[in-house]
Amino acid sequence: MSYVDEVLASVKAKNASEPEFIQAVTEVLESLRAVVDANEEKYRKYAVLERLVEPERIISFRVPWVDDKGEVHVNRAYRVEFNSAIGPYKGGLRFHPSVNQGILKFLGFEQVFKNSLTSLPIGGGKGGSDFDPKGKSDREVMAFCQSFMTELYRHIGKDTDVPAGDIGVGGREIGYLFGQYKRITGLYEGVLTGKGLTYGGSLARTEATGYGLIYILEEMLRHKGDSVKGKKAVISGSGNVAIYACQKAQELGARVITMSDSNGYVVDENGIDLAVVKDIKEVKRGRIKEYADRVPGASYHEGCSGVWGVPCDVALPCATQNEIDLESAKKLVENGCTSVAEGANMPSTLEASNYFLEKGLNYMPAKAANAGGVAVSALEMSQNSERLSWSFEEVDERLKGIMANIYRMTSEAASKYGHEGNFVIGANIAGFEKVAEAMIAQGIC
Ligand code: NDP
Repeated sequence: MSYVDEVLASVKAKNASEPEFIQAVTEVLESLRAVVDANEEKYRKYAVLERLVEPERIISFRVPWVDDKGEVHVNRAYRVEFNSAIGPYKGGLRFHPSVNQGILKFLGFEQVFKNSLTSLPIGGGKGGSDFDPKGKSDREVMAFCQSFMTELYRHIGKDTDVPAGDIGVGGREIGYLFGQYKRITGLYEGVLTGKGLTYGGSLARTEATGYGLIYILEEMLRHKGDSVKGKKAVISGSGNVAIYACQKAQELGARVITMSDSNGYVVDENGIDLAVVKDIKEVKRGRIKEYADRVPGASYHEGCSGVWGVPCDVALPCATQNEIDLESAKKLVENGCTSVAEGANMPSTLEASNYFLEKGLNYMPAKAANAGGVAVSALEMSQNSERLSWSFEEVDERLKGIMANIYRMTSEAASKYGHEGNFVIGANIAGFEKVAEAMIAQGIC
């Protein structure tokens, strides 16, 4: 049995109740076959793959908090510290009822390779809770965040583990979390990223994941003699990533015609009016359905997967994992979609992802495509260490450079191992090689 197959079999046996984690490991290890086979003796000797698929540490804790009626609730929370070979653990916190250990392990595992791809000194981690911020008052969210940090603070630090936002954790939550960390430890340090601009946040961090997604899409198309300009784009989600992907795509001349949330999606053939979306989602914390009530000509449709049946040139999944299954992938291709760039983490099932590759789409997987967010988080850490803040233009320029570099590394790694244009293989290999070398250099730990 090959080394990859042995480790895969063991991961499946040991983590049978964690399908998303098995899915992520399968995708990565399958695409590393060429590089692992070529260096099998070395990687086996140092048990690189066995160590790579096992988190260094998982912290699990309860979060008790009191709602506005005085009732006590208890949520379950985690921090998965996956791999610190190339830097302090770095990765977001997700607050969503679907959160469990397996989902955070898949996200933490992906984060290790993504962070390596940015070329910045950051290891991989992820955390969160099954708390649902939807429908909660600001005070309830604050009570939850304070209780969450009252346990988490002892496990994180500016040089050890630096969380950020993810689904359900935006500027408001990061503010409450930072305040509580400071209050308990007395330290004013860059222990979280995605902070507000008045207390150590970086300009362009809010925009970074969405902007980075469009920068790398543009780079991929440019190498084909094409561009984003004039393309009809379908976006899922209407949160942080979706909104700023839409903004940059529109700036570059694309026509974005959809946005969605977990209830349904809106179609606006005239092009999404982003000011309305921002007002609904960022100001009022409302539902995307309201868009159709406010914008003449727009329509609302119940259900999430229908958005992939809307004909387009470019699909940008920016909501959540496994939102595109094989059926949706087929619909996209049938309707003429030629490019897919993933804003969300693992939004395509393995079958959908393989289908895009088989059909020769311009397909940029999440690890490379959404790395702009964590890259600017690392730039926020640099600014915090320097006690300086850089201008929006400076951060944005660096982000552009980082995304172009990720494209180059991904594309070169794919070609080097005989899979030209396969950015899934390219991103995994490029991310893996640096982490593996660092793990070997640091001995068995
Ligand atoms: P937000 O919470 O800001 O927005 C999430 C959006 O996705 C909302 O519109 C939400 O709808 C929708 N959504 C969430 N869960 C589901 C679901 N189960 N089914 C359908 N729709 C869903 O999160 P972000 O924009 O920050 O994150 C979106 C994706 O991007 C995630 O996969 C995240 O891991 C990834 N990502 C985020 C980064 C960042 O910097 N924020 C960095 C890299 C990746 P509703 O309001 O109804 O829940």
